[in-house]
Amino acid sequence: MAKIFSKNWQHGENEGEIYKNWESKGFFKPFDFAQGRPFVISMPPPNITGKLHIGHALTITIEDIMTRYHRMLGEPTLWLPGTDHAGIATQAVVDKNLRKKGINKNEIGREKFVEEVWKWKEEYGGEIVKQLRAVGASCDWSRERFTLDEDLSKAVNEAFVRLYKKGLIYRGEYIVNWCPKCGTAISDDEVEHEPQKSKLYYFKYDKNFPITIATTRPETKLGDTAVAVNPSDERYKKYVGQIVDINLDGVKRKIKIIADRAIDKDFGTGALGVTPAHSMADWKMAEENNLEKVKVIDEHGRMIGDVGDYLGLKVLEAREKLVEYLKSKKLLEKEEEIENNLSVCYRCGGAIEPLPSLQWFVKMEPLAEKARNAVESGEIKIIPKRFEKVYFHWLDNIRDWCISRQLWWGHRIPVWYASEKLKVKSEKLNEKEIYIGDNPPADWIQDEDVLDTWFSSALWPFSTLDWPDESSSDFQNFYPTTVMETAYDILFFWVARMIMMGLELTGKIPFETVYFHGLVRDEQNRKMSKSFGNALDPLVLIEKYGADALRMALVIGTTPGQDMAIGESKIKGMRNFSNKIWNASRFVALRVSDGNLQSGEVGGDRIDNLDIDEKLLTSADKKILESQKSIKSKVKSHIEKFQFSLAAEESHNFFWHDFCDTYIESAKNQLVQLDKLDQLENSKKILLKVLSESLVLLHPFMPFVTEAVWQELREICPDLSESIMTAEWPE
Ligand SMILES: [Zn+2]
Repeated sequence: MAKIFSKNWQHGENEGEIYKNWESKGFFKPFDFAQGRPFVISMPPPNITGKLHIGHALTITIEDIMTRYHRMLGEPTLWLPGTDHAGIATQAVVDKNLRKKGINKNEIGREKFVEEVWKWKEEYGGEIVKQLRAVGASCDWSRERFTLDEDLSKAVNEAFVRLYKKGLIYRGEYIVNWCPKCGTAISDDEVEHEPQKSKLYYFKYDKNFPITIATTRPETKLGDTAVAVNPSDERYKKYVGQIVDINLDGVKRKIKIIADRAIDKDFGTGALGVTPAHSMADWKMAEENNLEKVKVIDEHGRMIGDVGDYLGLKVLEAREKLVEYLKSKKLLEKEEEIENNLSVCYRCGGAIEPLPSLQWFVKMEPLAEKARNAVESGEIKIIPKRFEKVYFHWLDNIRDWCISRQLWWGHRIPVWYASEKLKVKSEKLNEKEIYIGDNPPADWIQDEDVLDTWFSSALWPFSTLDWPDESSSDFQNFYPTTVMETAYDILFFWVARMIMMGLELTGKIPFETVYFHGLVRDEQNRKMSKSFGNALDPLVLIEKYGADALRMALVIGTTPGQDMAIGESKIKGMRNFSNKIWNASRFVALRVSDGNLQSGEVGGDRIDNLDIDEKLLTSADKKILESQKSIKSKVKSHIEKFQFSLAAEESHNFFWHDFCDTYIESAKNQLVQLDKLDQLENSKKILLKVLSESLVLLHPFMPFVTEAVWQELREICPDLSESIMTAEWPE
């Protein structure tokens, strides 16, 4: 039966098949026959709780463009995929599911709960990975990793032990951002600030106290041990250094009056009640001034310690009670409505309660210095460059990183204690009391906490390449990686920490270039959100218009680090371009093979090779070859400079205007008019050559339709490679 070049491009019927074929032929693996320097990207691992959103689709598109391009250049190319166990997020999802079934995680216990999470992971955790395939991600699934894989967990333990031995991990009492709702400490970067209206209360602790203070949280004042004023404040100078005994509704404290330049003379009364145990800034002040730290709020948001009648009250109840007391004693001078920021948990939105507790920390300063040098010296390049400034600023103001989390799902901290009591006893434990590593003495008790999810993410570029086994072939071949491509909003959470850990643990930079893409917004430039109802679902769009159209729409208009707007009409427009590619190619194939344009039946003429005879060129031939030559070099240079939008536009415009509108039109006449056989043959070759090379240029952006057309063209020109993926980039 004759071969038919069908009339329309049916993305829905073809994309899945094409992808399966690529994968089964092993095209996503680094070709070991290839020469030269490898090109390597570690895919930012999506959370296993995740569902593909438009931001992922952009990430995948850009990384796939680079990967396909470098593969066609003949470089050994590895794009390594994987997923993140996402501590808090996953635990919360499974916890919620269990609750719906009437199961309380505290009743079933840690081991059973973790089993439940693994079960959930097996069932739903792979969803996002399937969705990445729909976008066309040509990553090497045979090397897929999960942050809780056995090998990666070993890497995490090894990193912990090494850092601990070097004094870069320590245990200390520290004030942490505690979320009473999630029951865990979260890092500074996970705290969000919500503007709110609050009451500012002006009062004195008691009648004997010389200074009026102002606060929005009177209940915390039960834990005050100092009042701080600005050293240049004439009103209070005379009191600095005094220690005053107070009795605040039955709670007795000694309040020291201290001077601190950070105090704003114009806020409130210019005097700050210092609550070391329940404020980040006050904790620091207490360290500098040797103040006592009195904990009056516990992990559940209730009053504890020596707080008299307040014991056991919730913070808001305590606030009311204390305000009543102040009023009754005429200590309250005034109340004022103000706007301030409430610190809330990024995960659950609950109010953060700063609390002191024993936690594990990474000492950041020594790591930050190396990380700064790597970018300053140009060893690591950040695109766009303006993010370097943001990066330096963060490193210069860095605080130690609290890495312990009070969760069950994650890498359990590889620390064992000789007895239950030691776990909570003190910061400093000797060798007989604590063991760090993976071979603990029998009957010792392991630390309950797990590591912050970002700790394992920070090792991702090398833990996925067999580290700590640095002699493994993957580590040898593919580390350091080439490009880290991600959204700019995780510069601190992730990118900076990967640089620190890479330098510290492997002695090498983890990647050469950081490329930040912007956030995807809607047509009115609003942030996309599900609750707002303006979020585009990439899977729905792929079904409607094809992955190629979505990819092209996402990439045209993106500039590094700049947010971009996208609406459905843009994607629809790109679907028309997919059709254009199909239709023009169909015309060429049928004309060249002498087939039937109506029925689509491919003719019997074949082109054995694409060697062109320069002497037989017509002026139209010369023109198209000339302009394609310049496009090839432009597209190459744009991709190498990370200007993906320009590269996509150039290939799009060339195909649509120069090739379809102009050259194909003139070729129609040429094919009829040219009477010399050799000239006709030459003209056919040019059509095929320009078309096939255009397809290669478009392939990184629109992998599916270009492959589908390629397979049709191979019928006519068997000289073409087995797949467009294995074609060479045209020079
Ligand atoms: Zn929370």
